[in-house]
Amino acid sequence: MRGYGGLVVAGEVVSAAPAAPAADGDLRFTVGLADGSTLRARRVLVATGLRDVLPGLPGLTEHWGRGVVHCPYCHGWEVRDEPIGVLAVGPASVHQALLFRQLTDDLVYFSHGTELDEETRARFAARGIQVVDTPVDAVVAAEDGGIAAVRLADGRSVARRVLVVATTLQARTEGLEGLRLPMADLPGGMGRHFASAMAGVTEVPGVWVAGNAADPMAQVGASAAAGALAGAHLNAHLVTADTDAALTAARPALHVR
Ligand SMILES: Cc1cc2nc3c(=O)[nH]c(=O)nc-3n(C[C@H](O)[C@H](O)[C@H](O)COP(=O)(O)OP(=O)(O)OC[C@H]3O[C@@H](n4cnc5c(N)ncnc54)[C@H](O)[C@@H]3O)c2cc1C
Repeated sequence: MRGYGGLVVAGEVVSAAPAAPAADGDLRFTVGLADGSTLRARRVLVATGLRDVLPGLPGLTEHWGRGVVHCPYCHGWEVRDEPIGVLAVGPASVHQALLFRQLTDDLVYFSHGTELDEETRARFAARGIQVVDTPVDAVVAAEDGGIAAVRLADGRSVARRVLVVATTLQARTEGLEGLRLPMADLPGGMGRHFASAMAGVTEVPGVWVAGNAADPMAQVGASAAAGALAGAHLNAHLVTADTDAALTAARPALHVR
């Protein structure tokens, strides 16, 4: 970024809002940082990512991203052939179980109070996926820093090295409330993100969104691509605004001639 003339400011955005337009009518925004400084911007691209919200079970948070995972396309290779458990939170967990079954022959599905119909149980049985219906009480840590087991409400433990759990995907919105960006819900209560159209365009003139803040399922490649596309679209708007301003400035002179 710096090599291309970009100014990189390390800081937390605590406020962002439209400001009074410039004299020529062009949009302006004010962005406030946690250190008290304020930046002015002609356009804003929001790329704040998301927060994975885990179920409130002791031990889960401590192992997030290592022994506790959510995505076969992120961590699948690293956890292949391990004893894996799926901690069910809803219908998405059934899908996760079938995906992680590709990666291990030793998969246990902890239904944890969620509904599991007979057809799904039959499909799991056909794929050799064990089902445990006793609720889970905690994740048990191993001495090597990973996880050793899942402790059940009846006191039994089921040895597992990896626990898969579907998180709720919440776009990071803190500090951006002043932009009044519309939000959208993922199906099944799986999360919330900024609503956008093609190229990350939002309903708020001058504001684009990209990456997980707009598309919670996007991985690194898709997030980066969305940022590049939104950036190009944003730049096209600046070019148009600059050209409009140049034309307005040039018109009186042309008229005199
Ligand atoms: C455990 C885990 C493993 C993953 N593994 C993979 C993988 O192997 N391959 C893959 O393709 N994807 C993987 N992903 C998904 C990947 O992390 C995302 O797709 C990617 O990070 C999205 O990029 P982003 O730029 O939209 O958001 P982020 O990478 O989340 O970047 C957003 C940035 O904005 C900052 N920010 C937020 N709010 C503010 C604010 N108010 N002020 C200033 N800064 C702010 C955040 O601190 C963060 O640095 C994984 C995700 C997780 C959770």
